[in-house]
Amino acid sequence: MIDLSWVIDPIYIATIFFFIVGLQRMSHPLTARSGIVWAGAAMVIATLVTFLTPNLTNFALMAIAIVIGGGFGYFAAKRVAMTDMPQMIALYNGMGGGAAAGISAVALLSTTNPATSALAVVGGLIGGVSFAGSIIAFLKLQGWMRPRPITFPGQKILNMAVLALAIIAGVLVVLQPAWVPLSVSLYLPLFFILALGFGLLMTLPIGGADMPVVISMYNAFTGLAVALDGFSFATPNYAMVIAGIIVGAAGSLLTLNMARAMNRSITNVFFGAFGATEEKDVQIQGSMKSIEADDAAILLAYADKVIIAPGYGMAVAQAQQKVKELADLLESKDIPVKFAIHPVAGRMPGHMNVLLAEAGVSYDHLFDRDEINPEFPSTDVVLVIGANDTVNPASHRQGSPLFGMPILDVDQAKNVVVLKRGQGKGFAGIENDLFYRDNTRMLYGDAQETVGKLVQALKKL
Ligand code: NDP
Repeated sequence: MIDLSWVIDPIYIATIFFFIVGLQRMSHPLTARSGIVWAGAAMVIATLVTFLTPNLTNFALMAIAIVIGGGFGYFAAKRVAMTDMPQMIALYNGMGGGAAAGISAVALLSTTNPATSALAVVGGLIGGVSFAGSIIAFLKLQGWMRPRPITFPGQKILNMAVLALAIIAGVLVVLQPAWVPLSVSLYLPLFFILALGFGLLMTLPIGGADMPVVISMYNAFTGLAVALDGFSFATPNYAMVIAGIIVGAAGSLLTLNMARAMNRSITNVFFGAFGATEEKDVQIQGSMKSIEADDAAILLAYADKVIIAPGYGMAVAQAQQKVKELADLLESKDIPVKFAIHPVAGRMPGHMNVLLAEAGVSYDHLFDRDEINPEFPSTDVVLVIGANDTVNPASHRQGSPLFGMPILDVDQAKNVVVLKRGQGKGFAGIENDLFYRDNTRMLYGDAQETVGKLVQALKKL
């Protein structure tokens, strides 16, 4: 057979270029879709070219694994509802971490070089933690596990003890000292069990509101694990190393941005159990007052300025097209409309930007929290469409589980109309002070329906 292995490295370098272009395009909602195509194409090419590696065996097993994994991924991604996307990302991200841990295990069983083993151990630890942690994140986002923090006495000590034991087991795997009575075949599984256990234990106390930070952190972990694994082969796999570093670096930056958006430090997220504290004896002043669509439309028709604050409920209702129609209608009546975008609104970074871009809302109508917050006091009507935690003024109250999280200050506006189905709480499971304010009215119903009613009522005015 002709040896084509010389093409592998040049093609890997080309795929790295594709990955970088893909990532660059993903940084803007308008080009994000094509960015996914660039990065996906690079992944397919890198996978195919790997089959040219000399002396490769187990072709049939690899083909079966690719067909099963690829087939499952393809059909699951086709069928998933847009609102379930975050948990799918958490799950697939976890699979990446698990695959990295698997590669580490194979490398550790086949190498005797301590430097390679050390890299594989670190990759295995990070990949294992990412796998187990992402599964917990998936269960919490899917609602199969309660999103509130799960805490118990002595938790931090237990977590640190499990991590310390995992590190000790990893050191033993690398050094394989003669004085240790057990063979590597025993402490290698122990190492992975401890790594998985640590990932699980470390994610349990993290509450719903911190999930954005956690998901992006595990994403960065998976990238790092893959990069380290790239060095664990006889000849390093540069596509894995560089792709892993890109994911690790992008994931780390995203983690820091998300943490900044929540006004939280990373250590605070992982050790502070945000939302674990229940606020006792808090009596929210006022009562919830409802409004009908016709009356809300009159408020809008007489407004000089309107701001729309969308949240997760807009994604659930798939109301973005109707929202765009409403904004266009208001602007046709010379009422300027701006969109206030909270960085963690929805269930994934950029969720609102993507939905609104998909509906054709122009990017210059979207404003982030720092830009839009000073404008609320001079705004006649704010429409809160399916947002809850991101507009909850309880975050200003010391003792509130949300204390310190920067929000959209919609409560400062002259009138606030909140569109939601009923009295449901936000993702953090906390009562919202905004709904009880004198300037707030509740417009109940599925957001697509209620925005549709607003459009109809406005057209009649
Ligand atoms: P929330 O999740 O806090 O609240 C959404 C609200 O939408 C609910 O109160 C619900 O009330 C309402 N709703 C649900 N379905 C509909 C519908 N069909 N029509 C109208 N309303 C509906 O939303 P936010 O966007 O304000 O906050 C996001 C939260 O998610 C934050 O806590 C954030 O930390 C967390 N998170 C964010 C991630 C990210 O990356 N962006 C990832 C993971 C978590 P009702 O049931 O009464 O209708």
